[in-house]
Amino acid sequence: MSQTEAAPRNRSAGLKGSTLTAETLYQKCMALAHNLWWSWQPDVTNLFRDLDPIRWRQLDHNPIALLAEFTPERLDDRANELVLYSRINQAYRRLKEYLSHQHTWGHTHAGVLGSRPVAYFSAEFGVHESIPIYSGGLGVLSGDHIKSASDLGVPLVAIGLFYDQGYFRQQLDENGYQREEYVTTQVGDLPLEPAVSPDGVPITIEIQTRTGTLKAKVWRMQIGRVQLLLLDCDVDGNSPQDRELTSRLYGGDHRTRIRQELVLGVGGVRALRALNVFAGVFHLNEGHSAFAPLEVIRQRMHDDGISFDDALREVAQHTVFTTHTPVPAGHDRFDAELVEEHLGPLRDELGISYDQFMGLGRVEPQNHEETICMTVLGLKLSRKANAVSALHGHVTRRMWAHLWPWRVEEEVPIGHITNGIHVPTWLAWQMQHLYDRHFPSDWMRRMGEPEVWQQIHDVDPGELWETHQALKNLLLSFVRRRLSRQCRRRGESDEAIEAARNVLDPTVLTIGFARRFATYKRATLILSDIDRLKAMVNDPHRPVQFIFAGKAHPADEPGKGLIQQLANLRFDPDLAGKIVFIEDYDINVCRHLVQGVDVWLNTPRRPLEASGTSGQKVVLNGGLNLSVLDGWWAEAYDGSNGFAIGHGMVHVNEEVNDRRDAMHLYRTLEQEVIPLYYDCDLDGQPRQWIKRMMNSICSLAWRFSSHRMVMDYVRAAYLPAAGGLSCDMSYR
Ligand SMILES: *Cc1c(COP(=O)(O)O)cnc(C)c1O
Repeated sequence: MSQTEAAPRNRSAGLKGSTLTAETLYQKCMALAHNLWWSWQPDVTNLFRDLDPIRWRQLDHNPIALLAEFTPERLDDRANELVLYSRINQAYRRLKEYLSHQHTWGHTHAGVLGSRPVAYFSAEFGVHESIPIYSGGLGVLSGDHIKSASDLGVPLVAIGLFYDQGYFRQQLDENGYQREEYVTTQVGDLPLEPAVSPDGVPITIEIQTRTGTLKAKVWRMQIGRVQLLLLDCDVDGNSPQDRELTSRLYGGDHRTRIRQELVLGVGGVRALRALNVFAGVFHLNEGHSAFAPLEVIRQRMHDDGISFDDALREVAQHTVFTTHTPVPAGHDRFDAELVEEHLGPLRDELGISYDQFMGLGRVEPQNHEETICMTVLGLKLSRKANAVSALHGHVTRRMWAHLWPWRVEEEVPIGHITNGIHVPTWLAWQMQHLYDRHFPSDWMRRMGEPEVWQQIHDVDPGELWETHQALKNLLLSFVRRRLSRQCRRRGESDEAIEAARNVLDPTVLTIGFARRFATYKRATLILSDIDRLKAMVNDPHRPVQFIFAGKAHPADEPGKGLIQQLANLRFDPDLAGKIVFIEDYDINVCRHLVQGVDVWLNTPRRPLEASGTSGQKVVLNGGLNLSVLDGWWAEAYDGSNGFAIGHGMVHVNEEVNDRRDAMHLYRTLEQEVIPLYYDCDLDGQPRQWIKRMMNSICSLAWRFSSHRMVMDYVRAAYLPAAGGLSCDMSYR
């Protein structure tokens, strides 16, 4: 080895030796991995990936599992090899700065919540693919809500359940039929710490029922500045059956379900008390947690010696309830006996009769035929209720109008706050770099403001287009990798695997559709006229191709049938390789799709889509929405920022309605979407299409961000609730 080669190596070794030992380097990486903040920082995510790209992918992008495979010495070697020291140091410094930053939006606008934070309850949290405690839209919304609360500095503590098996992993068998597999996550691989009481003891909460006591321990997870508390029934003292109570999300029968909801609601409030957290606002995100206010009422009665009625009135003023679906099956209902079995001891302490108690969960309190509905309970125990889009607000007021028989429908006290998405989570870093160059330097902090996004019109159209093309190519490589893996797993021929490696064409208009396979979402609407579809897909000059993904609930046979229908199109020689289905839709699959598609298709049966959020993720990354005017799209579409299917009209006959929507879908594709996409300038770029991408970004990105959503919750719900003000009409 020559002197000149040796010198720099020695110098770097000296530098590292004096400033950073292998041990502290490892600890800094672990500290980063233990705050989910890393997951919305592309620099930190890329840092973890660079440590070992293959294992990173195999481990579901889990940095703790990845770091567990390194000793401090090996990590040090790897950091040396890749010159990672300054990146690790900088990431660590940025995390510290983020956590200590005082001048936040929340500090200015939500100061009163400082000593009395919001307690945010949700049955699922979709924070990252490596933490499988979510199933779909509701969970991702909760995750995005708490990330924005963290970024904005809104004081909030989140409460959920820890499911060690989470939701199922989906595989399709050779017939395209969905198989569910449950995988147990190792707690040690997750960023969980036992939540400890002020005197340092791990806390356990107990709930008496008529048939025994339920116990739960509490985990703590750090999401930026926000703490997420997760209750877990796998503790000594519970029966073997109860130890598994919280192992799966949305599994089991009514009894499992009510016990989970008891732990979430009543247990969640007890966990807060054990941790000395005195919440000023209780936000029930969906009816699953609607038992929570009952426990708060009990505490008020006990602490202040007030009557049930007085406590109810007070607690309701501090309670915010969000309802998420107009589909009847989406509202939990329980038999009164099951409720009495589980909440009887609590009812005794509240000192109210069986009938009065059950009446809280009934539209007609005296109607013994009526089951106990968690949504009714949530509405009656809160003074601020909201739906999740403007249209959903109308539908929800109509749906529950009979709870306020003396009011006209417009005056039913349910408002709306339209859902939004956490921009840093869903924005591709390539696109972020483009925005960084053209937007104000503090745009990330101000992304809920419309002015910021006006700057998109200053971006060079060619640059926007090229960035989108790069993302589309990444999506296609991802799809090919996934499909060939699916083929290999099913033991298919080498030719089939090779074919999977070559599906789809980056020059072809690419349409994505991915969501839960509930039948009202009509995933197969595009198959209504198969010949017309084949003509579009195989058009020699202006073809289209489709990527599908999504899970059906394990008990939803019709939903599984739809998946099968789509998956088996691969056996049709006219469609093979042009319409593909990717298994195991999750946050990771969703991120690839929304960042790379040209068009995002959504075909719900209006007005059953409460909001929908996946289309909002597409906007940021330059994709265009093609959707029925339902949920968020009904208020977002302005004629120039995407495409509408139909005119928002609904035929009373479902069959006729579906046929009409299908016709509108084909017509919009053939007459608007496809021609616009292939109408290129001499330089090969579709000028008008790019203009529409810009309109979409400019008009929609800020409005449908979760920053805007959380700011709305603060102004319209949290602040009035924290003050105990009853202004139930405030956010209409
Ligand atoms: C965003 C997201 C959803 C919600 O999408 P919808 O448009 O409401 O169907 C569901 N699942 C995952 C994994 C997501 O990331």
